[in-house]
Amino acid sequence: MSQLSIQGVSRTFTSEKGKSTQALLPVDFDVKENDFVTILGPSGCGKSTMLRIVAGLDHPTSGRVLLDGRPVEGPGADRGMVFQSYTLFPWLTIEQNIRFGLRERGMPESQQKERAQYFIAKVGLRGFEQHFPKQLSGGMQQRTAIARALANDPKILLMDEPFGALDNQTRVLMQELLLGIWEAERKTVMFVTHDIDEAIFMANRVAVFSARPGRIKAEIKVDFPHPLGPMMATNSPCSMSMLTLLSAVVSTVSVR
Ligand code: ADP
Repeated sequence: MSQLSIQGVSRTFTSEKGKSTQALLPVDFDVKENDFVTILGPSGCGKSTMLRIVAGLDHPTSGRVLLDGRPVEGPGADRGMVFQSYTLFPWLTIEQNIRFGLRERGMPESQQKERAQYFIAKVGLRGFEQHFPKQLSGGMQQRTAIARALANDPKILLMDEPFGALDNQTRVLMQELLLGIWEAERKTVMFVTHDIDEAIFMANRVAVFSARPGRIKAEIKVDFPHPLGPMMATNSPCSMSMLTLLSAVVSTVSVR
């Protein structure tokens, strides 16, 4: 039974002068609870548009999105969003940023603090609670954004190239951190990327998009045992060659 069902969702943008851009052809896609799905495709193929529609930040031209059987009509706490650009409130401390949604929901302060502390520890930011975002590196700001999204206990985490602005080394650390959290919290994740290796490394299913107007042209199941991090660290020749092979398969699909 799917947790998220994307049914015939398309999107055409029309400018004030009447020029229309078809960003997405009708997409049908189902996501099961605890899935880690990556949406892979070249820039401009409609990946963010689809994620924004699932988040309720944009509306489809046709079709609908159901979350646990209910139509998505706008943003909601059941979907946590993490963007590529840092979206923390600069005037709030790290802890206040993470507590923001909980405070808005009227959660008692002691519970807000307890929950924030739990996720601050999860993302390795103990000791930085009272810092402001500008005092933190890009990777630490993204950890805060992930902690903020998780603190609201969403059913599904929607991530739009969340590590795209980070240097390579930080990016790998963040990928491993996120997989560790996913293992522990058993959240459903939809993760947009244009990086083939990232798409395979993170997911148990990869949806490969065509160039604009986007449509899903292949779905690839990734059957590696999770977590991948320690497995890759051992540099097992078998797992490395499997990953290389899979990467080659996905790149054939994505350039065609
Ligand atoms: P991706 O995330 O795959 O890079 P996007 O979903 O951001 O792609 O964009 C898909 C296409 O839709 C692009 O051609 C983009 O220019 C266009 N587009 C996205 N948002 C808008 C908008 N608000 N108005 C007009 N065109 C848009």
